[in-house]
Amino acid sequence: MDLTLTDEEREIRDWVRTFVTKELVPLESQVLERERRGERGITLDEVKTLQDKARESGFFGIQTPEEHGGMGLGAVMNALLEAELGRTFVPFKFGGEADNILFDANAEQQETYLRPTIEGTRHSCFAITEPGAGSDARNIRTTAVRDGDEWVINGEKTFITGGDIADFTMVFAVTDKERGADGGVTCFLADRESGWTSTPIPTMGEWGPASLSFADVRVPHSAILGEEGRGFELAMRWIGKGRYLLPARALGACERLVEMAMEHARNRVTFGEPIANRQAIQWMIADSAVEIEALRWLVLTAAWQVDHAVDSRQAQSMAKLYGGVHANEIVDRVLQIHGGMGYTRELPVERWYRELRLLRIYEGTDEIQRRTIARNLLSGHASVRGHLG
Ligand SMILES: Cc1cc2nc3c(=O)[nH]c(=O)nc-3n(C[C@H](O)[C@H](O)[C@H](O)COP(=O)(O)OP(=O)(O)OC[C@H]3O[C@@H](n4cnc5c(N)ncnc54)[C@H](O)[C@@H]3O)c2cc1C
Repeated sequence: MDLTLTDEEREIRDWVRTFVTKELVPLESQVLERERRGERGITLDEVKTLQDKARESGFFGIQTPEEHGGMGLGAVMNALLEAELGRTFVPFKFGGEADNILFDANAEQQETYLRPTIEGTRHSCFAITEPGAGSDARNIRTTAVRDGDEWVINGEKTFITGGDIADFTMVFAVTDKERGADGGVTCFLADRESGWTSTPIPTMGEWGPASLSFADVRVPHSAILGEEGRGFELAMRWIGKGRYLLPARALGACERLVEMAMEHARNRVTFGEPIANRQAIQWMIADSAVEIEALRWLVLTAAWQVDHAVDSRQAQSMAKLYGGVHANEIVDRVLQIHGGMGYTRELPVERWYRELRLLRIYEGTDEIQRRTIARNLLSGHASVRGHLG
């Protein structure tokens, strides 16, 4: 395993590092102020302006293949860049990206959905979770029934990120009840104009997901993404991507948080000495640094496996689980080191505390990752010796 960066890769990583420092970090206090007034921290127009600025420097479509106008970078680079973005809580992502499964679209769908998503003129959302089926996604009940050249969709989706601003959704519905998730779930590309509605869900985080309602929503047969009945595989592929990118983002947040904690510890004097001199504080910093390093290697190993077409499911689940658990422990320690100030809304620590909590829940909870990891081991599919054997 060689994770040495080429000069070009290092240049790209450093460019993003500078972009984050110069363009995003200065927006942080404004983001906090707006969010505390109940507004979006950064508007979609402002995001677009920043994305356009990045594009002027050729920064567009990190993972998007070059034939679609992107940079076509691999998973390791994507993870490293995600970690750089994670160093700020400003909710920003670079333009030129599309959901990985949208690249399965046929030529006509690519014009209507993939290309505008890459260009940032249309917004997608991914809808599998239902009020009665989250972890147990195989148990979804939304149905799509064929009627001539159309399909009629009925059901409820919940906790859909971006569901309230999306122009279209990739919705998963049962098209063959007998087969269910084993060949009887289909993914449909459904425009908002087809009649589905959305309602925002307030959460403890700053940006909420939405519930989506489908009541006799009609879409043409041509709205099927991929093959009829093969939707569940697409859904698992979509979720799989987040299993190394979500902890990568948390990695960047943890680095920045521990830097903030060290700065505070050097300056905060109690009983005549900086708290940085106290063993209790030093141990919190040391434990956090070890966990950050372990997380970095779990994320990079998973990403390296993705790049080298090695079965990465075990590594991804490990990265997601470890990232969720330890990012939450680290932010808790950082809050503790800041004392009462850590608990206030003057600092972003409490914001990160709330945001990082989500990592233990979405795209596979801690318990589901543990279940996957243990099953892979017990069935012999994976070894405790890791992928090197
Ligand atoms: C902010 C946010 C954004 C989201 N975005 C999206 C999105 O864009 N698209 C989408 O489709 N979904 C999305 N989700 C849904 C998310 O993926 C689910 O919430 C998650 O999978 C958990 O499902 P659940 O909430 O139904 O919990 P449940 O499945 O009901 O689980 C409840 C608890 O039981 C545990 N549990 C469940 N089964 C087992 C088991 N077999 N063994 C041990 N413990 C178990 C869980 O780990 C959890 O602790 C989002 C959720 C949130 C909160």
